[in-house]
Amino acid sequence: MVDLKGQYEGIKTEVNEAIAEILDSSAFINGPHVHAFQSELEEYLGVKHVIPCANGTDALQICMMGLGLEPGDEVITADFTFAATVEVIGLLQLTPVLVDVELDTFNIDIEAIEKAITPKTKAIVPVHLFGQCANMDEIMELAKKHNLYVIEDNAQAIGGSYYSKDGSKQKAGTIGHIGATSFFPSKNLGCYGDGGAIFTNDDDLAHIIRGIVNHGMYKRYYHDVVGVNSRLDSMQAAVLRAKLPKLDHYNQKRWEAASKYSKAFAGQEHIVVPKISCGCGIEKSVCDCHVFHQYTLRVTNGKRDDLVQHLNDNNVPCGVYYPVPLHKQKAYLDDRYNENDFPVTNQLVNEVISLPMHTELDDEQIDFITNLIIDFINS
Ligand SMILES: *Cc1c(COP(=O)(O)O)cnc(C)c1O
Repeated sequence: MVDLKGQYEGIKTEVNEAIAEILDSSAFINGPHVHAFQSELEEYLGVKHVIPCANGTDALQICMMGLGLEPGDEVITADFTFAATVEVIGLLQLTPVLVDVELDTFNIDIEAIEKAITPKTKAIVPVHLFGQCANMDEIMELAKKHNLYVIEDNAQAIGGSYYSKDGSKQKAGTIGHIGATSFFPSKNLGCYGDGGAIFTNDDDLAHIIRGIVNHGMYKRYYHDVVGVNSRLDSMQAAVLRAKLPKLDHYNQKRWEAASKYSKAFAGQEHIVVPKISCGCGIEKSVCDCHVFHQYTLRVTNGKRDDLVQHLNDNNVPCGVYYPVPLHKQKAYLDDRYNENDFPVTNQLVNEVISLPMHTELDDEQIDFITNLIIDFINS
């Protein structure tokens, strides 16, 4: 699905030298690379505060702790996403409220959010699934109207942009009150282990969170709040510093691969290619509105599972993200949920398939994959 080795070849000298230097200096935690990466990412994103942490799941949890969400508070998020999003809501004893998504963008459905808002609702967590922003204009409007926090789960869309109705452009993860991301190796900006970060433009919130990530300390050995231990280490920061200047280029390569896939599948009756929903103008040859963390098709003739098997048989990697709606996962079952409220997620779990997507895909590989799929689907 990803070619991390190929990508490493392009930054090998830089990464190896930085890691050797860290080994020599022994500044493994909170070293100069961590601070440098933090400010480089702030500048890249155009956000006032980046707070690095240990992984994307922690980042989400720390966002919710920083906002002071309390047990019983309802948090609305998408039924069709990776479990981390709902997991941290559960861990903090907040009440997860899963809602359906849109069929064409896979992102959280605005009407479904509106319907789910109650007096107990405190926050909405849009997930920018597969690399494309949820409808942030509408989400921010709803949040304002109902006095809710917006926490962006930006684990899959780093480097992407959101083009608002009013023509402004903002980086994914910096639009809501707070954003969380992951630097897991296979993400668009991945390190060589675990890593994550929190983004916000709110000075007070940033201050609170800098304490929370460090055992609730604002002054050494004085613990004002219950915190966690969640750090990005120096080696991961060094890897991320080598990759950050290339992130736009990496995302552009993904866009190009996605365009080639979609072109090859054009006109196929049983295959629906991913929709690019942003107002950037789809005719643009390259745009940063969708950074294609995944390239995800819908197979509409019931042959999705057979296609997975066929690709496996031909040594073409593929993935089903995600095979089970969160509201049907054992850990998150709840009498509050009504099957009729999730028609889209229930459909998507049977139709979606994600194809290899990375920065090193070449035309020959894309041709091979698309021909294999088209021949099989029409057979
Ligand atoms: C990867 C991911 C996370 C969690 O990130 P980790 O760094 O693996 O903890 C959270 N949300 C989404 C949507 C993700 O894809």
